[in-house]
Amino acid sequence: MSPARSSAEIGALYQEMILDHYRRPRNKGTLENPDASVEIKNPLCGDEIGLQVAFDGDSVSDLKFSGRGCSISLASASMMTQLVKGKHRTEIDAIRNEFRNLMIGSNSAGENDRLGSLRALSGVARFPARVKCALLAWNALESALALK
Ligand code: ZN
Repeated sequence: MSPARSSAEIGALYQEMILDHYRRPRNKGTLENPDASVEIKNPLCGDEIGLQVAFDGDSVSDLKFSGRGCSISLASASMMTQLVKGKHRTEIDAIRNEFRNLMIGSNSAGENDRLGSLRALSGVARFPARVKCALLAWNALESALALK
């Protein structure tokens, strides 16, 4: 029988996941022939994210991001690219809505497996000023999808 993880242990694990994505960002760089290219800023924190997306029909076939800012904004961007790559836009919309629910502190969203590594950002909901950091990459993606 293994003991259940305490909330402190989960908090430490989530912190480690955020730092891992911040230090070793996934899908960072630029695409050669993007179908959509978006730049977005969060003036409250000074975060900047550039996002380039390639589509295959209604799916995101590839995407890369660039930018600078706080660990929350860049880790969230890295996690987002990893999670949405290869997915259909209806599925991406569903994930984005669930992540927004998580950021406004909705309990049910924290249980949702579909959010994957993004659940590591659940603690951000307690800091309203940082929610904008966590949502920045998702707002960029929403703009990119609207350009399609
Ligand atoms: Zn930030």
